[in-house]
Amino acid sequence: MKTTTQVCVIGGGVVGCSVLYHLTKLGWSDVMLVERSELTSGSTWHAAGGFHTLNGDTNMAALQGYTIGLYKELEAITGMSCGLHHVGGITLADTPERFDMLKAERAKHRYMGLETEILSPSEIKAMAELVNVDGILGGLYDPLDGHLDPSGTTHAYAKAARMAGAEIVTHCMVRETNPRPDGTWEVVTDKGTIHAEHVVNAGGLWAREVCAMAGVYLPLLPMAHQYIVTDDIPEIYNRDGEFPHIIDPGGESYMRQEGRGLCIGFYEKPCEAWSVDGTPWEFGHELLNDQFDKIEESIAFAYARVPVLEMAGVKSVIHGPFTFAPDGNPLVGPVPGLRNYWSACAVMAGFSQGGGVGLTLAQWMIHGEPAQNSFALDVARFGKWTTPGYTVPKVIENYQNRFSVSFPNQELPAARPCRTTPMYDIWKGMNAVFGQQYGLEVVNYFAPEGETPYEEPRFRRSNAWEPVRAEVRAVRDTVGINEIHNFGKFSVTGPGARDWLDRIMAGRIPAPGRLALSPMLAPSGRLIGDFTISGLGAEEFQLTASYGSQDFHQRWFEQHAADGVTVNNVSDLRTGFQIAGPKARELLARVTRADVGAEAFRFLDVKRMTVDMADAIVQRVSYTGDLGYEIFVDPMSQRHLWHVLSEAGADLGLRPFGMRAMMSLRLDKGFGGWLREYSPDYMPAETGLDRFIAWKKTAPFIGRDAAEQARREGPARRLCTFIVDAEDADVAAYEPIWLDGAVVGFCTSGGYSHYADKSVAIGFLPTERIRDGLAVEIEILGERRPARLYTEPLFDPDGARMRG
Ligand SMILES: Cc1cc2nc3c(=O)[nH]c(=O)nc-3n(C[C@H](O)[C@H](O)[C@H](O)COP(=O)(O)OP(=O)(O)OC[C@H]3O[C@@H](n4cnc5c(N)ncnc54)[C@H](O)[C@@H]3O)c2cc1C
Repeated sequence: MKTTTQVCVIGGGVVGCSVLYHLTKLGWSDVMLVERSELTSGSTWHAAGGFHTLNGDTNMAALQGYTIGLYKELEAITGMSCGLHHVGGITLADTPERFDMLKAERAKHRYMGLETEILSPSEIKAMAELVNVDGILGGLYDPLDGHLDPSGTTHAYAKAARMAGAEIVTHCMVRETNPRPDGTWEVVTDKGTIHAEHVVNAGGLWAREVCAMAGVYLPLLPMAHQYIVTDDIPEIYNRDGEFPHIIDPGGESYMRQEGRGLCIGFYEKPCEAWSVDGTPWEFGHELLNDQFDKIEESIAFAYARVPVLEMAGVKSVIHGPFTFAPDGNPLVGPVPGLRNYWSACAVMAGFSQGGGVGLTLAQWMIHGEPAQNSFALDVARFGKWTTPGYTVPKVIENYQNRFSVSFPNQELPAARPCRTTPMYDIWKGMNAVFGQQYGLEVVNYFAPEGETPYEEPRFRRSNAWEPVRAEVRAVRDTVGINEIHNFGKFSVTGPGARDWLDRIMAGRIPAPGRLALSPMLAPSGRLIGDFTISGLGAEEFQLTASYGSQDFHQRWFEQHAADGVTVNNVSDLRTGFQIAGPKARELLARVTRADVGAEAFRFLDVKRMTVDMADAIVQRVSYTGDLGYEIFVDPMSQRHLWHVLSEAGADLGLRPFGMRAMMSLRLDKGFGGWLREYSPDYMPAETGLDRFIAWKKTAPFIGRDAAEQARREGPARRLCTFIVDAEDADVAAYEPIWLDGAVVGFCTSGGYSHYADKSVAIGFLPTERIRDGLAVEIEILGERRPARLYTEPLFDPDGARMRG
């Protein structure tokens, strides 16, 4: 065993082996993997081996598509068989909502180039004659679905890595991981200590324990999962060709042919978390006891759907644990707070996702960033606030909902309320309907008095429609108020603060007293942040951006730390309110002695002022696109500020509004949102954020070269806004845009502008096709709706109100 290496991967399951292979594929050969037992000794050996591309998140779907395409490459490189069966799969829909969801999925696949198909019940019957289609409205067919041999595939990854120079050491248990001051690691094993530049945790079932060796809690939990393999079934072994995969979300089951019989597994509601307090090290190549009582109802459902199952004997039952993160996606990337320590954990579908996870991590380690937007799987999407107390109910909820319909406006109830501001009970008393962002309770809207504060999860317009409309009207007609707790906020101070910002941010760094909007770029020039920079003093700045991306941003800041500058995450230490609307100035003037007149307090000014008794940072800017102010205070002063503002604004018509109204208001101006219009998927010039890049500044800001090159070449696509002739459903995200009978673009987000009474969409079109008034069609829930491109904002087109 070598004792120094560039990378030490801990864990020889399918994920660790894939990471090792991809590191070599991208050019690093001084890499090794240590495995405490034999390869596949965790959850990998007992997997059912199924794979599929379908995933509600398009980046995850692309990652799964890459994984599936990789198996042929592995077979060609190694000469080993992965035991591939590309049989195709059908997901059934037995309710209109589920059918809507499948149609929305199909629509996304159009621009992703995936050849999925919506099937009628008779088409399902023709492909899968053993399925009882009574009550089935249709299905989604994916020709790429299939299954493989889990052990053969893992060994193929391992062999391909070895062929490229990697070393694999089995029966080598990692006991400690100790950081050295230079950022490298000592990996202490049974067979000696390895000095590694980088450590990758691919510990699967033991990932929590492995990460704890480095002093970090990883939010994941193993769940016990069961599938059954039947005896031979004549209707199966006598048929021509292999039976397709059948996913029956109504029965929480997936089913495929296994040899001459069938194999059926369940995501049952009465599910069981396994080893909640830690995976025992002595757990080995073993299964859990059969437990039919928890899948009794699911089995009865399956008998009705596929009657031949009832007559078939049970050949074997596989009941084993595997790990999940709270949202079901993997935890991948640099672990926040540690140097050169990487996570490849919580991969719940190792054979659909393992290849893509390996590629993503290898790109990140070698090139400094993944080639695709990887936020959906980034370990930084959970913050330090995540505890086992949060993870356990959230993972159970996710498991139970694995096959449930997932609606764009859905708010899941487990582990809530987890984090709240001082306003929580006040809003609750006003009949607020809450959503959750990054563990934080955020008001979505206020339900009418006397109504249960609950928004129906829907693809079409929900019961939030009227209340949100009233909130929007209040902002545009008088003045609205909402909380600004859900911004990520950083304080940047010190003699080097301005120079540091100049290098980190692509935009102009404002003078004291002023604000500037600035994109933050990766070295590839892609967007990794969309910030408001507030100049609070010569050596003091505040940054505001996405609340949910605060750990993602903090990690970046720490990776680029410099002498003479201190960056602190103050997201939860500065809270307060935004007031917006034509009467916002009058309201502010009533609660402060500072001069807030149009001349003294201009658009994009920032000032420290006393608001009644509260010490506040007040900035004149609003995402509503209206005359508006953000007032940041210490959380201890927030309730005081609320009472002051609500009393002073009562006769002005002050009304609280929530995030649903905010999302409608920003559409009036065509303002994009983080991870919607602006994300690491896009270059600034594609989104229009290039207008905030300070091309003339001398600082060599990160991403400059790539952004300049992209600017010279000109973007091939650009964001546009559309008015859609929608019926009862608006654009959510990723709907295809049709022009002249072909899909030419896709939507990034949309919704209803209650101010303009129009359904609005934002999306990408090829640059050469863009012109004002262009007629296109946008496919919403399987129906192509006429839409028209427009270029002038629906509200305040010349900015008179916002700047006045
Ligand atoms: C019943 C069942 C059915 C499934 N069906 C499917 C399916 O059809 N399709 C699909 O895609 N997925 C399926 N899965 C999930 C799949 O098994 C997992 O996604 C996959 O195995 C995860 O692989 P991994 O490499 O992350 O973890 P693991 O397989 O758990 O590997 C982790 C490895 O790390 C090693 N290790 C841990 N700690 C140390 C240490 N300190 N030192 C050295 N080595 C260490 C372990 O020994 C182990 O070999 C199923 C799971 C179960 C339980």
